[in-house]
Amino acid sequence: MTEQVTDANQKQQATAQQVNIFAAKEIANFVRSTLGPMGMDKMLVDQAGDTVVTNDGATILRTMNVTHPTAKMIIEVARTQEENCYDGTTSSIILTGELMKQAEGLLAKKIHPTMIVKGFKLAANQAEEYLENLTIDEDLLSVAKTAMTGKSAETDKDVLAEICVDVAQAAKLSDISVIKRAGAKVGDSAAIAGLLIDKSMVHHAMPETVQDAKIALIDVDVTLPDFAQQMQVQVSNNDAVEEFIAKRKVQLQALAEKVISSGANVLLCLRDIDKLATEHLAKHGIYAARRVAKSDMEAVAKATNARIVSDIDNITASDLGTADLFQEVHVGDEPLIKITGTPNSTAVSVLLRAPTKHVVDEIGRAFDDAVGVVSLAYSNGKMLAGGGSSFMYLSRMLKQFASTVGGRSQMAVEAFAEALEIIPATLAENSGLDPLDTLIELRTAHSSDDSTTYGVNVYEGGVIDMLAEGVVEPFSVVSQAIQSASETAAMILRIDNIITAKKLAEIGEDGFQY
Ligand code: ADP
Ligand code: MG
Repeated sequence: MTEQVTDANQKQQATAQQVNIFAAKEIANFVRSTLGPMGMDKMLVDQAGDTVVTNDGATILRTMNVTHPTAKMIIEVARTQEENCYDGTTSSIILTGELMKQAEGLLAKKIHPTMIVKGFKLAANQAEEYLENLTIDEDLLSVAKTAMTGKSAETDKDVLAEICVDVAQAAKLSDISVIKRAGAKVGDSAAIAGLLIDKSMVHHAMPETVQDAKIALIDVDVTLPDFAQQMQVQVSNNDAVEEFIAKRKVQLQALAEKVISSGANVLLCLRDIDKLATEHLAKHGIYAARRVAKSDMEAVAKATNARIVSDIDNITASDLGTADLFQEVHVGDEPLIKITGTPNSTAVSVLLRAPTKHVVDEIGRAFDDAVGVVSLAYSNGKMLAGGGSSFMYLSRMLKQFASTVGGRSQMAVEAFAEALEIIPATLAENSGLDPLDTLIELRTAHSSDDSTTYGVNVYEGGVIDMLAEGVVEPFSVVSQAIQSASETAAMILRIDNIITAKKLAEIGEDGFQY
């Protein structure tokens, strides 16, 4: 009886592990073809038929309709990676998948999951230390270019990389806003000192330029309260209707007047502005825009010292923000708001241009990553050679380290070291190279301490000094990818049971579903 129970438990454990390993490998398989400069893009189609074409691991996984709980956990790795480092999402997922594959081999050799977890943790910590040996000071321009390689942004990476470095050095990441506009060459993109907001005036008679702007920020509808709007009027009585309309107009004008008398000459509203109020504002030469994004409202508040107000009746001069110049400028077909000369003038904007919306969106994703990566590299100054070189180095060092560990966790450390080679192997594979041949060449190059920066020559095959090629990435991108992949692998390995037996069987039978 007890034997049967143990047997059943072991089976359940084995099934849970199989399912989880399968899920991890599938997700990794799905994104692996996008890794590196020669990686391919994915076209994501939603139920409404809308499409996104992207090479960005995080975007692919965020958009994919994933239902499997383990798969969701793995996708979480990409999110952490993206939030902390803006880049390296595909690498972290591929590494997680490979660690699980290695774990599968160890489980087959009857090594207990806890021992595997222990070995993986040990290896990851040791890797972090070894990685420090490789840090270099390199120019930020190379970091920016490397981050954009392999994306649609690549063909224009010189101009985009320069913009990237300019803005990353000029402002904190949170003070950089990126506006995307289709209808021009990527080369027309530019960094602009000041704040850009993708909005325009609500009434054509408003001024395009406001000097010495006094800016009111309101986060409620500029309209009358609901009960005043919806008051029932006896339609049989014409006078009553007219009186109602006239009264409403007066009330709305009075509301607009509250804003005007605070001294504001610009109003940015998070919500809607009633038409009658708009007309009154226009008549008094006030600029107003509605449905301004919350993030833009916050950016304006920060740059101009404005306070976001909900109580229109009590708005005062002290709530207003200031700017030397508030303008509506024309870029392509659509206008934009540009605010310059603000008291906290740290704000910098980037206007990204590309011929079509799809392209400008994808360039926007690549640029967002690149600017994040560059500010990361700028703030902590630590960088590494790319092209899989650091993974090769760590793999060699960990294999040496493993022999000092002993016991069963030694095998897990060795497996971890093997798993790291998946990054250069995948870079090679995606470039049409033979991954095994490339790994052999890389191992040879890395057998000496002088060539720790050798990685995959994705353009011509073979191996090459990545530093000489200017392929550089921030230390933290690589270190975070290794840490989060090993933590996720450990978390998944500790699961011995998935508690929905029926579903479990279904997954086992039908395979993993996206
Ligand atoms: P991730 O989402 O992991 O950032 P990417 O598709 O951006 O995935 O690929 C990043 C990998 O490509 C890194 O390992 C980086 O070092 C490598 N890489 C970038 N540019 C080059 C290059 N010119 N030659 C070789 N490898 C490169
Ligand atoms: Mg990348």
